[in-house]
Amino acid sequence: MPRFRAIIVKVTRMSSSCENEIDRTDSSPEKTKPGVYIRTFGCAMNEHDTQKLYKILEKDYQPVDAPDKAELVLINTCSVREKGEQKLYSTLGEMRELKSANPNMMVGVCGCVAQQEGEALLKKGRGVDLVFGTHNLSLVPSLVQLRKQGAPPQVAINYREDWEELPLGFADTDPSKNGKANHVTAFISISRGCNKSCSYCIVPTTRGPEVSRALTEIEREVRIAVHRGGREIVLLGQTVNSYGLDLSPRVSFVHLLDRISQIDGVERIRFTSPHPQEIRADFIECVSTNPKVCRHIHMPLQSGSDRILKLMNRNYRRAKYLKIIEDLKARVPDMAITTDFIVGFPGETEEDFQQSLEIMDIVQFDLSYSFAFSPRPGTPAALMPELITQEDKLQRLQILQAKQERIQSARLEQWVGKTAEVLIDNHNRMDERCFQGRISQNFVVNFTQPYEGLSLGSLVKAKITGRKRYTLVGEVV
Ligand code: SF4
Repeated sequence: MPRFRAIIVKVTRMSSSCENEIDRTDSSPEKTKPGVYIRTFGCAMNEHDTQKLYKILEKDYQPVDAPDKAELVLINTCSVREKGEQKLYSTLGEMRELKSANPNMMVGVCGCVAQQEGEALLKKGRGVDLVFGTHNLSLVPSLVQLRKQGAPPQVAINYREDWEELPLGFADTDPSKNGKANHVTAFISISRGCNKSCSYCIVPTTRGPEVSRALTEIEREVRIAVHRGGREIVLLGQTVNSYGLDLSPRVSFVHLLDRISQIDGVERIRFTSPHPQEIRADFIECVSTNPKVCRHIHMPLQSGSDRILKLMNRNYRRAKYLKIIEDLKARVPDMAITTDFIVGFPGETEEDFQQSLEIMDIVQFDLSYSFAFSPRPGTPAALMPELITQEDKLQRLQILQAKQERIQSARLEQWVGKTAEVLIDNHNRMDERCFQGRISQNFVVNFTQPYEGLSLGSLVKAKITGRKRYTLVGEVV
């Protein structure tokens, strides 16, 4: 079965010169531009694509915080879980109503569901003007233009083997953050797609095989991010640590970390998500010794049972995962470890599930994201007989999440009384006069009083004075 549909439209590529991006301040009054609203579902990659779309569209549109203020609404979809697709269809219903009140409004669907469904979405989702895939963000202005000129609904789900060039940097306005974009943390995509074939996952189909971005391009975007106030760089990829294996000559992820850490102004580097299969000694060495690389690894485990890992086609086993954790903690005892679990995978017995709980006791994850298995059409796991009832799945999920809460509380508690370095990256949501930031281990620290001289991007020493359910409370020392 072919993974990608045919090319449907042809349009021109956007320019992306570094200098252009740095100097690109649009002098036309914002008020004259129509609004664009993007609703985003799914992972960090989708969040990143949304920020890029705002950037791509900033010449013609200004971001707004509600769809009823927009002339262009984009829905950035996720198909990793069934819920994501349901959310798309309910959002389309909502947009149809708005469209009947504002016939000029245009609605587009992008992201993984768009890539997967293509033209079929025009039939399933009445009122859709544009459908564009995960490799076609740069086509949006042309698709919008064609539609405005009276062309029929536009579909672009071209699969590309090269890296799609997008404008560097991000838009200055971000309606999801009270209007002003916060550039302290910059998400930078280093690779796209995935060469693994986990049996439950649709990503290799929707985002294609892995394509690494040129090292020099990544460095260029990091420099722009720093120029705009970026202090913390978050590198994004489906299996971020297999970066560069497809480049010629090959570049290792560790080399990339090393190069980025040498860029002036970069204070911290994070990345998500590494795959256990590609973690080797040089990686452990780098994350334990490079002072700019944060003391936090988010490494998806999915299950503590070898039998289930095999059925999931995860190319590592429990012992390998535990060995990585052991090596990391031996070098950096306060390294924070976070993970993902899938509960109720087809064939998961009570004993398999207990092994997931057991590994939680061993590792003491600082945080875990957990989900009940839901079959995704087109994946091998969707064809596996599901022997577990939905009720049992949800019950297991509750047990696992309750256990995680207990572990997490204890992990947070350990910080109380300690001093840690905090990068200020936002305002305290409860009190705009105060700031919040993150420690290297990725826990959020809220300050409860305003401090003279602090600003977004400040790196300060803080004493942790208390904790809430998921966050820490601190004062500057
Ligand atoms: S590593 Fe597995 S779960 Fe992650 S994107 Fe690739 S196929 Fe999906």
